[in-house]
Amino acid sequence: MTKHCLMVGAGLSGAVIGRMLAEAGHRVTVLDARGHIGGNCHTERDADTGVMVHVYGPHIFHTDDAEVWDYVNGFETFLPYKNRVKTTSQGAVYSLPVNLHTINQFFGQTLRPDEARVFLESKADTSISDPQTFEEQALRFVGPELYEAFFKGYTIKQWGCSPSDLPASILKRLPVRFNYDDNYFFHKFQGMPENGYSAMIGRILDHANITVTLNTPVSRDQAAGYDHVFYSGPIDGWFGFDLGRLGYRTLDFERFDYRGDYQGCAVMNYGDVDVPYTRITEHKHFAPWESHEGSVLYKEFSRACGPDDIPYYPIRQVAEKTLLAEYVAKAEAEANVTFVGRLGTYRYLDMDVTIREALDCGRRYLATLETGEPMPAFTVNPL
Ligand SMILES: Cc1cc2nc3c(=O)[nH]c(=O)nc-3n(C[C@H](O)[C@H](O)[C@H](O)COP(=O)(O)OP(=O)(O)OC[C@H]3O[C@@H](n4cnc5c(N)ncnc54)[C@H](O)[C@@H]3O)c2cc1C
Repeated sequence: MTKHCLMVGAGLSGAVIGRMLAEAGHRVTVLDARGHIGGNCHTERDADTGVMVHVYGPHIFHTDDAEVWDYVNGFETFLPYKNRVKTTSQGAVYSLPVNLHTINQFFGQTLRPDEARVFLESKADTSISDPQTFEEQALRFVGPELYEAFFKGYTIKQWGCSPSDLPASILKRLPVRFNYDDNYFFHKFQGMPENGYSAMIGRILDHANITVTLNTPVSRDQAAGYDHVFYSGPIDGWFGFDLGRLGYRTLDFERFDYRGDYQGCAVMNYGDVDVPYTRITEHKHFAPWESHEGSVLYKEFSRACGPDDIPYYPIRQVAEKTLLAEYVAKAEAEANVTFVGRLGTYRYLDMDVTIREALDCGRRYLATLETGEPMPAFTVNPL
């Protein structure tokens, strides 16, 4: 029997699940509070310069998941793109993640890989046997100099607290490479959508069984009357924040324009704590196959998320996880709603993981229609 399902959110989660249900013959209504599709992956071409701007911050597609890679390539051409990040620290520019070039440049050495390992071991604080905090973890594995230059200031700015107050798990394995590989991601498949993410998501949503309406915030009451709701908004928002708000970091982007090439790369981090922003992104470098005289840049500032701000990074410390557990219990008592995506499950999710989870969620729903089993509130465990 044909179902009528509501997707709250026209980001990747809502689009991928909606497409799968539409292809299976069901009616899908997609509602989004914003005036555009694409959620936080939204891209738009700047009218003045022609540059494709990543409106909510830089997005690079990378995955080891062949099905997800085939999926996105089915809706958009992906062109080769390697993320090569630089950082400005203590008056010099270095390559990230910390690699042999960074180590040799920083310490004025010409070390080979084995020598660099021994050298860094001599820097490590071996009195720390079981690192509990981010700071201890960093001091244990790279020593004080690299920690100060590349991790400390950036982390303070990004998370708004001392690395000694953050759990070691944030930096479980310090990304240090003992070769000259400066490709930020390890994944087998990497690329950029030729026409931006919103064009891709627009094609995913382009199906006769899907209706998309923008500028339409949806509350729990307004979501009644559908056979099933897939909610990709904030889980605490669904319940009107009645138990309190889950903590997030938000970002402020300060745009500036330039004629020519401002910084020669897409992403320049700033490791020093006295530089108030964490990084500058120059968007035209995300599309190296295009050529633009003008340039659009974002300075990125991180701060605590207030009620009217866009939630970006979930904090997920002990207090937040306790509150999350309470919301999860409430969510599990709901009927005909599944909480999905980065906000619905209060987790940081890369795009490939978002798509993988959305594909699995859509399949699970279609399977429940066959078996008669109830569709759960979560198809992944958010805790
Ligand atoms: C700064 C930053 C950089 C990132 N960079 C990368 C990267 O380089 N590579 C990568 O793989 N991933 C990256 N990501 C992750 C990527 O943004 C997410 O994987 C993706 O956006 C998740 O999609 P989603 O649909 O779950 O959520 P969202 O994109 O947040 O979409 C949710 C949608 O729901 C709508 N909505 C919410 N509540 C309601 C409501 N009540 N009513 C109606 N609509 C509602 C919102 O307006 C939004 O459009 C980055 C994330 C951030 C924050």
